[in-house]
Amino acid sequence: MNWAKYKTKKIRTVRYAVQLLFFFLIFYMAIIGIWKGVLILAIFGMTIFLGRFFCGWICPFGLYMDTITWLRNILKMSHWPLPQKLNQTLHKTRYIIAAMIFATVLLGFILGSATLFDLPNFIWLRPPFVPFTFFLEPLQPLILPWKPPFGTLYEINGTYITYPYVGEIMIYLQKSKLALPIAYIFTTATLAASFKIRRFWCRFCPTGISLSSVNRFKRFRALPLMSLSKDGKKCTKCGICKRVCPVQVTEIYENRTGKIRTSMCILCLRCVEMCPQKNCLSLKVTNITLYKNCKH
Ligand code: SF4
Ligand code: SF4
Ligand code: SF4
Repeated sequence: MNWAKYKTKKIRTVRYAVQLLFFFLIFYMAIIGIWKGVLILAIFGMTIFLGRFFCGWICPFGLYMDTITWLRNILKMSHWPLPQKLNQTLHKTRYIIAAMIFATVLLGFILGSATLFDLPNFIWLRPPFVPFTFFLEPLQPLILPWKPPFGTLYEINGTYITYPYVGEIMIYLQKSKLALPIAYIFTTATLAASFKIRRFWCRFCPTGISLSSVNRFKRFRALPLMSLSKDGKKCTKCGICKRVCPVQVTEIYENRTGKIRTSMCILCLRCVEMCPQKNCLSLKVTNITLYKNCKH
């Protein structure tokens, strides 16, 4: 199969434009000081019903990694696929990180005097909800026009350079002299790794995965309204969907037919636009086809 002949970037370009739009919107929300608790509820609500649409089309950290991949493509350098077993193990590890965050908040309840309905504390993510800010770190803008309380990497004439998770590193290691060096190491390492491994941090990140985990249970499988669908009769097992997937999902290739819901899929639609078989893959919202590969 000469898969290069089917190369297309239409959906990728549209997705990039949508990501940029949300990047500026989120930057604006950071400036006006949006309620963080409401933002978390919005992301998690979206994830339950739309799968990981947030990861594929909205998340700023995803945009940073996609930009690095785009630069690598311009330089015509190849990527490193992770061994499949390692990829799946990392995927499972994220549930542990997410569970630890929830457990820390729960511990805060038990040890403190807060109640579950402590609304002002929740919407501003004050104790005991502080660990939830970890879920919002991928939304961190790279530059800010004011000094954030934590999480500055560098200052240039009143503009502050920051990066996802740097704030968390500074908060938890604030008494240590190692906080800033660790923040620099984390930033450099994730940027460098993203150059060779597509969506590198998405293999670890607990945001977005946390509530899509409910899809793993049979009873909740019907919850996400958005899903990929495959017409197995048209599939020639060429393997292109597996090859182009930025997070190395294999279920699209392996599953025979029908709706395919996997908590690893970020709904970027790259496999749909690259599949060489007309109408073989599609994106469905409930049973309505929103997009299919009808170009070939
Ligand atoms: S997995 Fe995390 S970093 Fe990746 S796109 Fe989703 S929220 Fe962003
Ligand atoms: S779904 Fe499409 S891209 Fe994937 S193996 Fe089948 S024909 Fe190839
Ligand atoms: S399976 Fe398809 S839609 Fe899902 S992440 Fe991979 S390429 Fe994107």
